[in-house]
Parts: sequence; structure tokens; C-alpha cells
Amino acid sequence: MPTLHIHNPSTGAMIDTIPADDATSVATKAAAARAAQPAWAALPMADRLACITRFRAAVVAQLEALAATMTRETGKPISLSRNELNGLLPRLDFFVEQAEGAVRDEHVFDGGGMHEQISHAPLGVVANISAWNYPWFVGCNVIVPALLTGNAVLYKPSEHAALTGLAITRLLHESCVPADVMQCVVGGGAVGAALVEQRIDGLFFTGSHATGQRIAAALATRLVKVQLELGGKDPMYVRADVDVKAAAESLADGAMYNTGQGCCSVERIYVHAAVHDAFVAHFVDTVKAMKAGDPMDAGTYIGALTREPQIAVLQAQVDDAVAKGAQVLCGGRRSAGPGWGFEPTVVANCNHTMELMREESFGPIVGIQKVGSDEEAVALMNDTRYGLTAGVYTKDEAAARALLAQVNAGTVYWNCCDRVSPRLPWSGVGDSGIGLTLSTYGIQTFTRPKAWHLRQPG
Ligand code: NAD
Repeated sequence: MPTLHIHNPSTGAMIDTIPADDATSVATKAAAARAAQPAWAALPMADRLACITRFRAAVVAQLEALAATMTRETGKPISLSRNELNGLLPRLDFFVEQAEGAVRDEHVFDGGGMHEQISHAPLGVVANISAWNYPWFVGCNVIVPALLTGNAVLYKPSEHAALTGLAITRLLHESCVPADVMQCVVGGGAVGAALVEQRIDGLFFTGSHATGQRIAAALATRLVKVQLELGGKDPMYVRADVDVKAAAESLADGAMYNTGQGCCSVERIYVHAAVHDAFVAHFVDTVKAMKAGDPMDAGTYIGALTREPQIAVLQAQVDDAVAKGAQVLCGGRRSAGPGWGFEPTVVANCNHTMELMREESFGPIVGIQKVGSDEEAVALMNDTRYGLTAGVYTKDEAAARALLAQVNAGTVYWNCCDRVSPRLPWSGVGDSGIGLTLSTYGIQTFTRPKAWHLRQPG
């Protein structure tokens, strides 16, 4: 039987070996989901809502154990694991409050004996191939609205968050979602590829651009709905009129939270020359005060990198930047001690010839570049193949709105960063992906609008 080894990134040690899927078992699960989906969709919405309400209660009841599991397999500091689970609760509340209204029939026209209406039918069987960095958030952004709208879900958590994926599935089953309606598929890329081969009605992916592109190509000839939530190179601009210390503290948190392993982590900062030196000094002070260490320690803010190969990616970006004239102001290398750590790293005097300013880092490192004007900042923010988030720090709301209107990104921020709201759509421009999750649009996306033309007999 195939197995999956689970490692603890903070020590590098193997901590578990669990049964995994192969192409045969994936096909069996897909067939069972197909058979179970119509009865699930036929239930009243209230029954499906009750399942998610029970699921929420189970998350609350088991929060400490769930947080510890996530920390052990991803290296996420335990206080951040608790934050993720507590942050999940308002998302679940949003879905429960909004699902019924989002997919209610719409009566759009009555006249001349004709009635026109729109209904929202479930897609059917949807696959969710997911990432490890916020496994509860990115998993439930798909699983929960997909289930609420009557779909069966084949969920492949990342191989780096498989224990969490199994826990999500177990809690949904304990909350009365039928076993065949919600199934976990365990394994790495090959198991994900086998899932893509099944007869599915939608593929919802969160992960890297390279994998997303591969999946989209594999599905292109079958005309299956595909949504891709991919990486970012999230830029921020600090104008000359800011409270420099407050902006530096906020952006340092945005760059280093979750050890920099967020799709909307701040990756590059453009600072107006008038405040550049003061900003950089406060920024470096803030980063140096961040406590790195054992992720199980409640005071730890910087944990381990979940994937060891990322250490080499970060080191190559730092070395490339230094070779092209940048200065490392703190950090810059693999952490001492066991496990897969990288020192929180601030690199100044950057420019766009450097990989650090162009390719996703996905770790605790950030590049800073001095700019002379709003126009230069906007041009640099838009000089990217990605477009997930971007932001501006300034006291001038009108200036912020004018600048943000010019930025090519799915999400824009004024005086905040690294933030996701269940009420707002989460989407990317360019190589950051296609489609969206969250908001009422992120509920409707699991349905197919059906057009009804109804003529009363004359
Ligand atoms: P990844 O692409 O390595 O893996 C994602 C998933 O795809 C995993 O479950 C993996 O097993 C699976 N997979 C790998 N090869 C496959 C194949 N050939 N066919 C099918 N499935 C396959 O990404 P990751 O390292 O898990 O996640 C990090 C990336 O995710 C970063 O780029 C980050 O920016 C992005 N991300 C984006 C968002 C967003 O909302 N936009 C959120 C979180 C993470």
C-alpha cells in the first residue's frame, strides 16, 4: 500500500507515516462521489447548513489539538496556528449566513406572458487541490461553499499538510457530511495528477504558478471549469507623508507573518526617498525584534520553512541581489540549529534586475527599493507578471485611491496589508490566477447559473 511520510520542519525529523492513495483508489473515490452527489444536492439547504454549523463547533472544541497538528507538520508557530483556526470561524459564519441568499432563484423578468428566472445548480463533483501554508483557510474557502451549494468534494490537501487535511475531513464526517460526499485524497503531485484525470465538473486549485499551469493544460481539452489561486509578488508603496514608524511596523508584520509563507505576504517595498532611511531603520529594528525559534513555543513568531528546498531558493535570491549591488541589513542565510529555518532577512538598495524583486520568495525575506515619485512607484508595482495584492501607505486617502486604481491586482490595500476578508472576493490578475474564492461570488462559483424562459399558456 502506498504511504506518505510526514516531517516536522522545525527538526527535519520524520514524525509519521500514513496510508496514501494511488491512481486506482482515486478513481474509486471519484466514482463514489459521483454516485453520492445527487442525494446531497437534493437535501434542503438547512440540512447542509446544519452540517457546517456542527463543523464550526467541532473546530472550536478541538482547536488546541488541531493547532498542534498544524504546527507539527508545517512548522507554523503555534500562536499563528491558533490565529488561523480562530480566523476560520468568521469565514464559516459568513458562508452559513450568505449561502442561501447567494444561490436563491432570481426572478428577473415578467411581461407579455413571459417569466424569466435564474437558478443556481451545483457543478456536481468538484476537486480541490490545495496548498500547505494556510491549510484551513485555503481548504475551507473551497470545501465549505462547495458542500453548501450541493457539490461532492474530492479534496487533496498538500502532502505537507496532510494530517490537517485528514482532520478537516474527519470533522466534516463527524458533522454528518456523508463519507462519499466529502473525501480526502492523500498524496503528492502524482496523486494530484491522478485526481485531475477523473471525471470531475470543476477543479479548484491553490498552489504555485507552475503546478497551476500544468493542471490547466491537462484539463484544457476536457472543458472542465478551472480556478487557479496562485502566487504573488505583492508590492507596497510608502509615500513621503506617512507615520514612518507605524508603516514600518505594519509592513514588517506583513512581510514576516507566517514566516513570509503567504500568497499575500509583502514581498517588495518601494519607499519614497524623503522617508526611505528612517523607514528602513524602523523596519530593520522591528524585524530584529521578532522571536524565531521552536514553533511550539507560544512566544515564537518566526517558525520553520515548511519545505526544505525553499532554503536554496531564498539563498539564491539573496546572493543574486547582493551580486547586483543590494545590501543585506539583517539575516541573509539559513538559520543555525536543526530544522528548515531561514533568518528573517531585509535587503535594501534593490532594483528590478534582481530576482528578489521579480520572483515569488515565499519566505521571511523582503526587498526594499527607493523611489522618487508616485508615478515611479506605480510603474514598478505593475512591473510584474503577478497581480495578487498591492498597497499604499499614506495619510492622503484621495491619493491612495487614485494610485490603487492604477495598480493591476485582484486586491488593493490602503494603510494595511496581508489581509483577507470573507466578505471580499479573493482573486489574482495575470500569473496570480483565474477565478475567485470568498464573498458571495465565491459561493456562486460552485454553481452553474441556469436560465429559465417560462411562457404561461395563452
Ligand atoms: P504546489 O504547486 O507545489 O502544490 C500545490 C498542490 O498541488 C499540492 O497539493 C501538490 O501535491 C499538488 N500538485 C503538485 N503537482 C501536481 C500535479 N502535477 N498535478 C496535480 N496536483 C499537483 O504549491 P505549494 O507549495 O503547496 O503552495 C505554495 C504556493 O501556493 C505559492 O506559490 C503560494 O503563493 C500559493 N498560494 C496561493 C494562494 C492564493 O490564494 N492565491 C493561497 C495560498 C498559497
